[in-house]
Amino acid sequence: MAVEVNKEECIGCSACVSACPFGAIIMDDSKAVITDGCTVCGACVDTCPVGAIIHAVEKKECAINKDDYKGVWVYIEQFEGQARNVGYELLNEGRKLADAMKQELSAVLIGDNVNHLTKEAIARGADKVYLVEGAEFNHFSTDAYTITLTDLINTYKPSVILMGATIDGRDLGPRVACRVTTGLTADCTNLGIDEETGLVAWTRPAFGGNIMATILCPDHRPQMGTIRPNVFKRAEPDFTRKGEVIQVASKVKVEDIRTKLIDIIKVCTASCNLEEANIIVSGGRGMCKPENFALIEQLASVLGGAVGSSRAAVDAGWMPALHQVGQTGKTVGPQVYFACGISGAIQHVAGMSSSDIVIAINKDPEANIFKLANYGIVGDVMEVIPALIEEFKKIK
Ligand code: FAD
Ligand code: SF4
Ligand code: SF4
Repeated sequence: MAVEVNKEECIGCSACVSACPFGAIIMDDSKAVITDGCTVCGACVDTCPVGAIIHAVEKKECAINKDDYKGVWVYIEQFEGQARNVGYELLNEGRKLADAMKQELSAVLIGDNVNHLTKEAIARGADKVYLVEGAEFNHFSTDAYTITLTDLINTYKPSVILMGATIDGRDLGPRVACRVTTGLTADCTNLGIDEETGLVAWTRPAFGGNIMATILCPDHRPQMGTIRPNVFKRAEPDFTRKGEVIQVASKVKVEDIRTKLIDIIKVCTASCNLEEANIIVSGGRGMCKPENFALIEQLASVLGGAVGSSRAAVDAGWMPALHQVGQTGKTVGPQVYFACGISGAIQHVAGMSSSDIVIAINKDPEANIFKLANYGIVGDVMEVIPALIEEFKKIK
């Protein structure tokens, strides 16, 4: 794909120069010139008043027969034999895509002794489960998992693959996509079916979250994407559902794994496991100084919850980025979300609006967060949070 300027038509208005987010257009002799910095984002095309900029698509012949690829797959990520929630969230969404496409929904389960997870995958919507087990999958290894998922795709040819945008999913997805020569839309926040083409429409934030881009994969298969945890809800399991388990032998050889696990050091305790947490206590700029986050941690600890933060608190250096909730942080969906000294900016709300119950503490009664909150406490966090800690301690 390339972006070109038709010099005959260019009237030299310069509108495209400021429209280019990469500064890749210069004016030369009153004509726009696209330089090497162009990323082919296409942002300049519609700004030209005379249609002089063309987004030229080179049609590449694709060797695969797309009709051979059928079915929607969901990769069920597991850790120490426990499935991560995101796999079940994606099964719920994958079920809708599969039904709309009139195709089967399958789960892919790779691990050591993970057979027990197949029942729940079926109960949560899968028609089939592809199961690959072996000691080599005891801990996630990029090589072993990449080889296995690539082999499954080449053998069974799914049309669509959904994976969690977790640390492991972000490692595995692009590698597998590259090996099977397809594209991958990373970090999606919405999924749908494109009416015109029937392809999966993958939506994700772009340009630092300032626009939402919807991406199609028209020429290659499978259509692949990673999806943020907590964007979709899990369906209630129905253990009367029937499904087929297809056991596939591992083809991984010892020499295929180029890394060796020496030790596991857990730097992240339950307090930063935001994506799986049922209760999250988040603090924002209204906590006023970093030391005051001790109160957030105490309240989270009393409730057995995780600690979240707004971007303002992260940018101020009060909290590490892995605690950030929001459009450019984590997307969370706990049963209870405490927003302490957080104004409720749209970018923060984008990451926590699927929480079941929101409790906001803010000294400004007009703060945006109260529009979303189920319960609101107008007051100073330094007075309200200690009182809550005391009361919750008594109840416990
Ligand atoms: P503020 O907006 O400053 O709010 C502080 C609140 O604390 C106020 O409502 C105030 O009334 C209250 N307060 C002050 N003192 C007290 C007190 N003593 N007791 C009680 N209440 C008090 N933000 C995110 O959080 N996550 C993101 O992922 C994110 N991504 C972004 C992406 C982009 C592209 C952009 C442009 C912005 C993004 N932001 C994000 C930033 C966002 O726009 C807000 O600036 C940010 O969320 C504000 O954080 P805050 O609510 O902590 O601070
Ligand atoms: Fe700039 Fe994007 Fe146009 Fe290239 S396609 S010149 S990067 S706006
Ligand atoms: Fe030329 Fe169009 Fe750019 Fe104006 S916006 S300088 S007409 S290419």
